[in-house]
Amino acid sequence: MSPRRRRPNRPYRRPKRKRSPSVAVQERVGLPPGSEVELPEQVLVQDLVNRLNLSEIDVVKQLIRNGVMANLTQVIDFETAALVVSDFGYQPSRAPEPAADDLSAHVVLDEEEGDLEERPPVVTILGHVDHGKTTLLDAIRKADVAGGEAGGITQHIGAYQVDVNGRLITFLDTPGHEAFTAMRARGAQVTDIAILIIAADDGVMPQTIEAIDHAKAAGVPIIVAITKTDLPTANPDRPKTQLMEREIVIEEYGGETVAVPVSGKTGDGIPDLLENILLVAELQELKANPQRLAQGVVIEAHVDRARGPVATVLVQNGVLRVGDPILGGQVAGRVRALVDDRGERIAEAPPSKPVEVLGLGDLVQAGDLVEAFASDKEAKDAAERRRADAGGDFISKGSITEDIYAEGDTQVRELPVIIKTDVQGSVEALRTSLDRLSHDQTKIRILHAAAGSINESDILLAAASEAMIVGFNTRVEPGARTAADESGVQIGLYTIIYEVIDDVRKALEGILEPVISEVVDGHAEVRQVFVIGRRARVAGCYVTDGKALRNAMARVSRNGELVIEAPVQTLRRFKDDAREVTAGLECGVSVEGMTTFEEGDVIEFYHQERTAAV
Ligand code: GDP
Repeated sequence: MSPRRRRPNRPYRRPKRKRSPSVAVQERVGLPPGSEVELPEQVLVQDLVNRLNLSEIDVVKQLIRNGVMANLTQVIDFETAALVVSDFGYQPSRAPEPAADDLSAHVVLDEEEGDLEERPPVVTILGHVDHGKTTLLDAIRKADVAGGEAGGITQHIGAYQVDVNGRLITFLDTPGHEAFTAMRARGAQVTDIAILIIAADDGVMPQTIEAIDHAKAAGVPIIVAITKTDLPTANPDRPKTQLMEREIVIEEYGGETVAVPVSGKTGDGIPDLLENILLVAELQELKANPQRLAQGVVIEAHVDRARGPVATVLVQNGVLRVGDPILGGQVAGRVRALVDDRGERIAEAPPSKPVEVLGLGDLVQAGDLVEAFASDKEAKDAAERRRADAGGDFISKGSITEDIYAEGDTQVRELPVIIKTDVQGSVEALRTSLDRLSHDQTKIRILHAAAGSINESDILLAAASEAMIVGFNTRVEPGARTAADESGVQIGLYTIIYEVIDDVRKALEGILEPVISEVVDGHAEVRQVFVIGRRARVAGCYVTDGKALRNAMARVSRNGELVIEAPVQTLRRFKDDAREVTAGLECGVSVEGMTTFEEGDVIEFYHQERTAAV
């Protein structure tokens, strides 16, 4: 099959990366080129992602390129959303007013201004090992006098809420930037605010720097908590000056970052820290719509001998209720019971509330997206769709230049890079040389640069931010190598600076002038049509040449005329989902939006590959 080369004149579909089940995300393939996308006046970023059927990361990145720092749970206006929609090559249009009682709101979304209400912030504690993250989390939990009635025993369910004079804050119980970025790598951004802890007797350490860079890459505001201030050796001022070197300027020094001295041991400073979290949250205007069906993320899951599969879900939008049909990852179920962080059974969980959910049919994973539906059937159908979507892991051949770049034709495009070197001196040398490569249209964005070997946290950050990793005179830790292979992160190891610069320049050129080539995978002829619900949706086909691929685009033509061009929806061999079916075999095919198959139609399967311009 000879590739047809052509310039990009329609939205590019990123080649799918090979991912292991542990980091598998639901593949989102975008809409057919030029599709119309209806947008309400106010749209939740997560909803925009759903409407575009693209990955969260891609959409959030595009927003950032347009100067809007918003996470998935934030609401943007029509104009901003329309800009992003056009950036991806689709046609934005204003949606008609949604019906107020539309219960199938998971598709037609109803984020009307009036429905949006303030929701509690979700906070993660990050920082160097042994600086007191766990101690602080425990102390905050205990300090919650209002909520902790009569020494009520709190349950460790992965997150908890504290009540600060009638206002709630949700803390994620798995501290550390690895967990934080691992969720993000799966497309689930749950944190609104990061608390960066630094021990007053130790100061800024390597993982402090990692934590800062991970929080910055996620676009999450940082509050600094200087811990262990009760120690005689404490020097709370030192971390503050050290932070300046990392471009975090605290308020005392004229900057914008709040720093609060605390002690997890004595509890000093904790009320002040909580107040500041609420202040920062206020500025973020965190909102959600309690009128709709719930959406959330799994933050922890296990199988309980007595209760079966249990998942702690952080509700991000809507209200989750006992009895709701739900989908977690690819597992459907119905909420049998909801248990809060105090072990109490509750009937419903509003936005930002973490709850244990009983009733999912199987074990789910942290980072899995959760959605409630109006009926069991809808939940089951959605489960089927997610399973089919996750079925094929498509392997991109990927040189660095093919795989790592940003899309969009008009904005400044960024190449995110992580640098690890042998010594600090080389960090600076590389940073300066790479910075020089940035120009008007393309920019190198250094997410993290440090001396040391390439570790798992670097891989996670690269996976979450789609960055390339440059290792200079350094090695890859064994665990990191496995993680990189699993998540498709590419690592370049170098011993000569010139070669680093050369490769990164090539990657930048890849951003600048990409060429999209189309590769035809094969053809199939429609021999029989299956009518489902009065529409001819499924075609029984015979593969005449090449291969029919599940993860491909399909071009259906009739008597030589194009009928539709859209992603393949299902590919079956007998009753089973298939990833590919080769020439000479029969298969069942459905194509997104195609409801009028006829015998004799020809389906061409193709995919796009992107290479740097030569
Ligand atoms: P993590 O690794 O960041 O979760 O740190 P931990 O919370 O496990 O704390 C590490 C050690 O520091 C433990 O021995 C704690 O008792 C101690 N520690 C934590 N916070 C404080 C504090 O505020 N004051 C004092 N004196 N010790 C603390």
